[in-house]
Order: sequence, then C-alpha cells, then structure tokens
Amino acid sequence: MIVMKFGGTSVADARRMLQVAEIVRAHRQRRPVLVVSALAGVTDLLERALQAARRGEVEGLEPLLADLARRHRWVATGAIEQGAARHDLNLAIDALFEDLRQLLRSVRVLGELTPRAADAVLSFGETLSARIATAVLAGRSIDAVWVDPREVIVTDDRHGRAIPDLDRTGERAEPRLRALVESGRVPVLGGFVGSTAAGETTTLGRGGSDTSAAVLGCVLGAEEIQIWTDVPGMMSADPKTVPAARTLERITFAEAAELAFYGARVLHPATIAPAVARRIPVRVLSSLDLEAPGTSIVGSTNAGAAPLAAVAWRGGVRRVRVTSRRLHMDPGFLPRALAAFDAAGMVPDLVVSSEVAVTLVVREDGDVERARHGLEGLADVEAGEPCAMLTVVGNGLARDAAVRGRVLAALAALEPELVALGGSARSVSAVLPADRIEDGMLRIHRQFFEEERAP
Ligand code: ASP
Ligand code: MG
Repeated sequence: MIVMKFGGTSVADARRMLQVAEIVRAHRQRRPVLVVSALAGVTDLLERALQAARRGEVEGLEPLLADLARRHRWVATGAIEQGAARHDLNLAIDALFEDLRQLLRSVRVLGELTPRAADAVLSFGETLSARIATAVLAGRSIDAVWVDPREVIVTDDRHGRAIPDLDRTGERAEPRLRALVESGRVPVLGGFVGSTAAGETTTLGRGGSDTSAAVLGCVLGAEEIQIWTDVPGMMSADPKTVPAARTLERITFAEAAELAFYGARVLHPATIAPAVARRIPVRVLSSLDLEAPGTSIVGSTNAGAAPLAAVAWRGGVRRVRVTSRRLHMDPGFLPRALAAFDAAGMVPDLVVSSEVAVTLVVREDGDVERARHGLEGLADVEAGEPCAMLTVVGNGLARDAAVRGRVLAALAALEPELVALGGSARSVSAVLPADRIEDGMLRIHRQFFEEERAP
C-alpha cells in the first residue's frame, strides 16, 4: 500500500482534480490510500468566516459562504461529466453548506468562538474536497470510497493542534482501510481532521494534511508516503530567488527540518516525523510534472551523499547586542541576558556569545524594549536595523571541517553583520540587510550548488 497526499493547489480546480484521478490511476497497482487537503485558500476563508461570525458580522459572512459554495460547485461541475453523479454531488455539497451555515450561525448568536466550534467549522474544507475527489475518481471509473477521517484518526483534545494517537488510530484505521484496499477500492480521506476518543471533531494544525498522510502511512505500514504538491520537490534554493535552483534527489530528515526552520517552504518536516521514525520512505512529488522523480526524505544519508543540501533565507529578523556593564569576569551574564529575552517573549534564532557580550538574532517584531528594561543597570542593549538571514544547510557542515571552512569564508565574503554556526552544527547563517539577500543567495548558490562543483 502507499499513501498519496494531494495539497490544496493540487485540487484547486476541476482540471487539477481530474489530473489527481489520472495520477491515482497510474499508481493503482501500488494500492493507494488518498489524503486530500481543502481546495487552495479554503481554510483561510473558513478562518475569516469564523472571525466574522464571532464579531456578529452577518454582512461579512454571507458573501464569504456564497463564494465558498460557488467555488466547490464550480469544481464539481467542471470535473464530473455524468449528469446524475454531478447532481448527487451538488446535493451533498449543498447539505454540507447548510450544516456549515448552522454552525456559523450558532457562533454568531453566541458571540463566542470555542476551539471546539472552530475545529468543527475548519473541518468542512477537507470534507468538501474529499467528497468531491471521491466523486471525481468514481467518474473516471476508479472505485473510490470516501472515509470520514473522524472515524479513523483518533487524537487528543488539543483543539486546533491535536496530536494523533498512533495506537488508537491504528486500531480503527488499519482494518477498515486494509479491507477496502484489498477489495480493490481506493479510500479517500480529507486530511487535517480527526476526532477525540469521545467523538469530537479536531484539527491537526495548519499543514496538518501532511500529518494525516504520515499517520496513515505509519499505521498501514505503507511502502511509501507520497506528498504531491505544486513544486518539483525540495530544492537547493527558492527558485523565485535563484532561477538555477535544482530539485534535490534526496535529503535527510534533519536537513529538511533545519531548512524549514531557516525559511524553506514546501513541507514542514515535523508533520512527517512519525513516518521517518518508522523508516517509511516519504517522497515529495510535483502534480505539475508527473515525470519528475521528486525528493526522497530519508532518515540518514548513505556514504557519498552531497555534503550540502540547500541554501534558504528568511527576513523579519534583527540583531541585538547585549553588553555587560562589567568589562570582564561576569559569569552569570549569559543566562541573565537570555532570561531577559525569554521573559520578553523572544526566542532567539541565533546566539553568539562571549564573556561580556552576547549577540542574538530575534524576530523583528520582538519586544526588545522589554528585554532592555529587564536588564536595566546590568547591561546595555543595542538593537540593529531589521534584516534577513541567509542559511546554508547540510550534514557535511557537521562532519567535514574543510566544507565548513569554505562555507564560512563564502558567507563572510558577503560582509554580513554576523555569521554563526547553528546549534545543530548542520547549518551556517549570515545576517544581512534584506536588500542584499538576493545577491547573496545567487552567489552562494553559484559557488556551492551549481556546475557539479563539489564544495
Ligand atoms: N487545509 C489545511 C491548511 O490549509 C491543512 C493542509 O492543507 O494541510 O493548513
Ligand atoms: Mg500544505
């Protein structure tokens, strides 16, 4: 068995839905279980609807709902040829919207939004897309069957970021999905949604459909988990910044996690951690380019793996230097400085310290004033201008001093405000003014990731 997960952009319209059916058909032999996200943008719209309902804004709510309903009907109508099947699906969509309206009405009347009600509303996006996908597959002669994720994915009761219970999910999901697959059918589930043991609807946090896919892959002991998205895989850099960026054939879980932290998008590896822990191969694939091999996310690298994985960047940070009022010998200084930032709600992205000074990189919107206040009389706090952080990631940085040296030198040549080795030793970051990031990305990428030039 394999688990195939399609993200929001891969099911965004009728044409893409039909393409999903063709991709599934091509993988029929591998006995797929399907997981789909809500149509692109729908979860955001549902969140807006929730806020409008909470504020009692009827005028804001109705157009949003009408828009959402129109969009789902438009996809259903465009992707299903058979009149009767299309009619049935549109009735099902209407019924779901009626339920959604009721729920939002009760939020509006109460003027209060509980986490429980929020989850109930947010779950509609995935329910709608899964019902549509099931009908679209059936319309293309694939024997698909919708399975309500609330009947198989059991979570704790942390609404909005619920954590699946693998054992209980296994007990419910495994026999049911296996029986379906063995009778030649393709189960289709909405991602992102589960329920507590008591049967209350929960959601798994934004991006949670990847988690659903990973959890199902684990409990089914799947041969592979495929994450189908709208990019060719994990890349050596963001192609919007670096046109020469290339798709990585494989990347280790640790590198992917580090990249996500330092600004790469695509996939948040925390979502697939259970699968990686059980050594189930996870592959990111492009639903726009079916021939592309995608990127495998593996537990550890084999010998001969590239020492560097990718370069990433993210903005919205600033450098803050804290200098002790004592000029030397101030042993309690570092913990005190860190505690002041912690008390002000800031978790530094990087910390570089010496005996009497420490430089932190924190989010640009962090409350530096509060930290300064907390250190009054003990240390001076000087905040730099908003800037960005460029980070090179690769297991080779931890392993190979020569590689590390070359990367450090290349980053230093960008004349950054700060260069630092990440805590995991798998990354090196440079802090630069945002307007020098693009040039820096291009230069670093050219130097280490192009022309087969091994660093
Ligand atoms: N629809 C949810 C979101 O937008 C879950 C997902 O797509 O993974 O975050
Ligand atoms: Mg996603």
